Formats: sequence, structure tokens, C-alpha cells
Amino acid sequence: MQAFDCAIIGAGPAGMAAAIALAKGGANVAVLDRGARVGGQIYRAAAASPLPDASVLGPDYTAGAALIAEFNRAEITRFTGADAWHLGDDGRVLFSHLGDTHELHCREMLLCPGAMERPMPIPGWTLPGVMTVGAAQVMLKSDATVADGAVFAGSGPLLYLIVAQYLRLGVPVAALVDTTPRQNYLNAVPLLPGALRQAGQLKKGLALLREIRAAGIPQYRFAEGLEILGEDKAEGLRFTANGQPYEIASETVFLHHGVQPNLNMTRAMDLAHRWNPQQLCWQVEADAWGQTSVPHVSAAGDGAGIIGAEGARIAGDLAALNILHRLGHLSEGERDRQTAPGSARLAAMAPFRAFLDRLYRPAGAFRLPQNPETLVCRCEEQSLANLRAGFNQGARDPNALKSLTRCGMGPCQGRQCGHMVTGLLAEWQAEPPEAVGYYRLRSPQRLLTLEELSRFQAVPAPAQAEAAE
Ligand SMILES: Cc1cc2nc3c(=O)[nH]c(=O)nc-3n(C[C@H](O)[C@H](O)[C@H](O)COP(=O)(O)OP(=O)(O)OC[C@H]3O[C@@H](n4cnc5c(N)ncnc54)[C@H](O)[C@@H]3O)c2cc1C
Repeated sequence: MQAFDCAIIGAGPAGMAAAIALAKGGANVAVLDRGARVGGQIYRAAAASPLPDASVLGPDYTAGAALIAEFNRAEITRFTGADAWHLGDDGRVLFSHLGDTHELHCREMLLCPGAMERPMPIPGWTLPGVMTVGAAQVMLKSDATVADGAVFAGSGPLLYLIVAQYLRLGVPVAALVDTTPRQNYLNAVPLLPGALRQAGQLKKGLALLREIRAAGIPQYRFAEGLEILGEDKAEGLRFTANGQPYEIASETVFLHHGVQPNLNMTRAMDLAHRWNPQQLCWQVEADAWGQTSVPHVSAAGDGAGIIGAEGARIAGDLAALNILHRLGHLSEGERDRQTAPGSARLAAMAPFRAFLDRLYRPAGAFRLPQNPETLVCRCEEQSLANLRAGFNQGARDPNALKSLTRCGMGPCQGRQCGHMVTGLLAEWQAEPPEAVGYYRLRSPQRLLTLEELSRFQAVPAPAQAEAAE
């Protein structure tokens, strides 16, 4: 079995920045990512874009190429196409790579699994043709594939970003249906002075909105009562905006209303978690350096609480410097000195993040399903009515509801329905989410075939892993 000082799961901005700092500090570091290429969500294919001109994706995206290049130059053992499915607190990492199971061992573990989009369980959200804007981005960044005449609906910076990217590419957009509640603008006003300290970010956001407005596509604000049209596949979107009913025909509807940490890894390791009332999601408990309730396990980036790409990069760096200290490569004083600028930068960014969280706080009606027939658990096809029946039979926490209804028992292991189930149980019992809890998760964190388990091998030689970009 191959042993490393530190194994990092996830090669997005957090994981890459951490790996670079660890390698520079003299640690023997391995990075695993299930993607075919490093980069994570924001920098997906940033070093080898299939688009003729990747600058249409914006400067935040193209900046990723430099980080990827630095990562590729550093002394890092990298495994791409490597899906980690068991992380033991004994430092054991089991992962799938090219259909085989592999094992490595590490003294320190850094979890950087990133975020996933918050499901938007409106009626019809599971019909073919309904996807998330993240999926639109994956198709665009990885394969230069777009959907002509799509409707984009929801709220938040990523929604406006993808619409702007489509427009720059000249792809027709049927409509932008913005669900940001009117009240959110008023609620966010008190946080505006703090956000203005990051005037550059604010200007960038406003420029994006102006760009979309200037393109003249149909835009609807303060939309409510969203419903996908169609029986077997999406045929459009129905909603009301400012009291007026609308129906827009389209075979593709992209939904989005924010992201939340990808919890499966941190939950399966049984790390302590807390409810974040501003971001309305669970996140792992970690100190200023990302050290979790298990000392040799750290977490950084959006997987440890939504902080955006720049924040993720800084958090990865801070976690790495702390790990170097724990490994004996840095004194405590040196760690504190080297982490001070990054910590100060994160603190300076916090008011802008708080402003975004307040402005784009998802409305309850989009966060929790309202229609009894709407599916909550897609894997096991459990509707709101099924879950309510489980609650009526006595299930009071997510694990009891899982036992009664099978919700959260499918291949995604609650990734999609976990937060909704916490939210529903909290609402039904008039309890805070922290009193309700979350699913208890266990390894393996992905579906494994017996055939794959039988092909248990030592860690693949890095040369056998994906070649560098
Ligand atoms: C779909 C989507 C699209 C986004 N697009 C943008 C954008 O265009 N612009 C922007 O500013 N922000 C975007 N974001 C927000 C963005 O995720 C972050 O700001 C930033 O990428 C966070 O960096 P990170 O390193 O924490 O995580 P990520 O960049 O998400 O990287 C996490 C990595 O962990 C890997 N991983 C997860 N689990 C495992 C496992 N079990 N085994 C192996 N590897 C694993 C993933 O493959 C991924 O590469 C997007 C978020 C999502 C969910």
C-alpha cells in the first residue's frame, strides 16, 4: 500500500491550492479527483477548453488555467478519474479507478469535495428536459454543448453567469425567470455598506445583469408558483410574475437557486456538523484552518461552507499550512505568520458573502416541495405525500423516515433529498433543523459492483492515472 503525508480529495481551487502549498512545504501529497481532469466546478476543462474562444466564459474562468498549470508543475501525485468511496479515520482511502478498487494510506487527510446545487423541487422538476444550470455549465465547459431556446429559472449569481455566457456565444435564450423575492432586496440593504468594501465584486455582478438586460431577452422578476409544463418531458414553464400568469414553451428548463456543501464525505466520516442559518444548509464544523472534529482530517473550500472560488483557494492554502505544521514542517509561529494574510483576506470577503446569502436566500416554496405529488427522493421515487405518510406513521428524524419510506437509500445517498428531508421534518414538527438532524451515512459512498471489489489492487502508479493536461 502506498503511503502519503497527506491525501487530498477534490482537485478544485481548494484542493489544487492546498496541494501546491503542501508540495512547496516538502510534504509527500496525493490528490484524487473523480473528474477526468483537474479544475473542479469553476475551472472545469479550463486548461483544455473545447470552445474556440474560452474567454466567453469570463475572466474568472480563464484565470483557472494558471492555477492548473502551477498544479501540474508541482511535485504532486495525482489520480484523476479516481472516485474516493471510503475515507477511514485511520488514514485509509479506498477509491475506484478505471473499474478497479485501490487503497492508499495517509497521515493527514484534506477533504475538498466542493458544492452541489440546491435542488429546486417544483412540480415537474424530475421530467426529462429539466436540468440545473450547473449541468448547463458542465455541458458547455466540458463538451461545448448548449441547448437552444432554453428557459433559465431561479436565482443567484450562477444563474446570471450562465445566461450571460449563452448570450456571448449567440445561443438563443427563451427567457430568464428570476425568483429572487422582492423582500430579499429590502432585507439585503443593511448589508450593502459591508458589501461595498468589495466594490469590484459588486460591479462585476451589476455588469453581468446589465449585459443580460442589454441583450433584450424576455426577463421576468419576482416569479412565483413555478411549474414545469409537460407530461413525459418538459414542454415549458408556467409561473406568475407581479401577479400576471405566464407560460413559456421550451424543451429545456434550467433551474438554479444556489449551492450547498457536498456532505456525503464529511457525513460518512461522522465529523461534527452544524446548521448554517444564513446559507440554510449543513456544513462541517472546522476551525480557522479547516481542522475538523477529527484532528488529522481537515476540510476546505465550498465543501466546508460556501465561500466561492477565491475563498476556496485561500481556504485550501490555510488548511495546507496548518497540515504542514501538524506534520512538523512548520513551527506554530511560522504557520500563524504565513496564514495571517489569507485569514485577513477571508475576513475581508465575509461581508460580501453575507450580502449575497441574504439577497439570494431561496424562498421556502422553492426549497421545500409544496405539491403532494412532487418527488423529493428521485432515486427511490418518493413523493412529498409518501414522506408525509412516513411522518404520520411516527418517523421524526431523517433516519427513521429513511427506514420507513426508503427516501435517501438510493445511489445518490441523500445528496439530492437530504436537505429537503431535514427541512420538511423541521417544518412539520416546528423544530429548528439542528434538532432534526441529517441522514447517517456510511461507506461506500458510491455504488460498487462486486466485480469491482474483487479487483482490489494496490494504488495505481501515477503514470497509469490520467496524463497531465
Ligand atoms: C455545478 C456547479 C457549477 C459551478 N460553476 C461555477 C462557476 O462557473 N463560477 C463560479 O464562480 N462558481 C461556480 N460554482 C461554485 C464553485 O463550486 C466554487 O466556488 C468553487 O469551484 C469551489 O471550489 P472547491 O475546490 O471547493 O470545489 P470544486 O471546484 O467543486 O471541486 C471539488 C472537486 O472534488 C471532486 N470530488 C468530489 N467528491 C469526490 C470523491 N468522492 N472522489 C473524488 N473526487 C471528488 C469533484 O470532482 C470536484 O472536482 C459552481 C458550483 C457548482 C456546484
